[in-house]
Amino acid sequence: MINVALDGPAGSGKSTVAKIIAKKLDILYLDTGAMYRACGLKCLSSGVDVTDEKRVNELIGKIDLEIKYVNGAQVTLLDKKDVSTDIRRPEISMLASTVSANPFVRIKMVEKQREIASSTDCVLDGRDIGTYVLPNANFKFFMTADSKIRAQRRYNELTERGEKVDFDKLHEEIKQRDYNDSHREFAPLRQAEDAVLIDTSFISAEQVADKILSYIKGK
Ligand code: C5P
Repeated sequence: MINVALDGPAGSGKSTVAKIIAKKLDILYLDTGAMYRACGLKCLSSGVDVTDEKRVNELIGKIDLEIKYVNGAQVTLLDKKDVSTDIRRPEISMLASTVSANPFVRIKMVEKQREIASSTDCVLDGRDIGTYVLPNANFKFFMTADSKIRAQRRYNELTERGEKVDFDKLHEEIKQRDYNDSHREFAPLRQAEDAVLIDTSFISAEQVADKILSYIKGK
């Protein structure tokens, strides 16, 4: 079984790199952020405040969330509906970050992630894969980049999709998410001691993927 853990903050290039690696190794790519985003979306559409632990636990306790693969690409189904595009909305990012600090929500999502990883060769991207979800993963990488560069990547991604976004607001939001994700009590964003650190500020996603692949093949 091959499990590759790719952790790091928002905009470090994890998902782009994970997709390249998964394709080259012909294994699945599990985007764990999509699960927390779906939880955030569920709270929003149900009118539940993401900080209201009791109501969030009730709601997420019976969430109908499914991860499927269509032609190798992940499809996130919430209440049987494909929400893969919906969960990418900028306002969902912050809701996901807040709701993901809830230990009950994390335990529930981690259960699903471990289930998939134990039966399938896959590359998983997230915040706590190497430290908490799969501490025994065969390969662990921690990707990082300057926050301004990460905000610029997210800005390009959203404007290319036709969304109107303010760069400074996006940058602040990324810094706020970094802070939330690395300061929460339960399974915070942190580099695992045995993870290889890659600064992606000045190299392309293809170059990062090559580095990771040569590391994997060399081991
Ligand atoms: O990776 P992405 O930006 O889609 O993740 C959205 C949010 O989900 C993150 O800001 C983080 O709070 C949360 N997350 C997490 N653990 C993961 C993946 C994502 O807490 N393994």
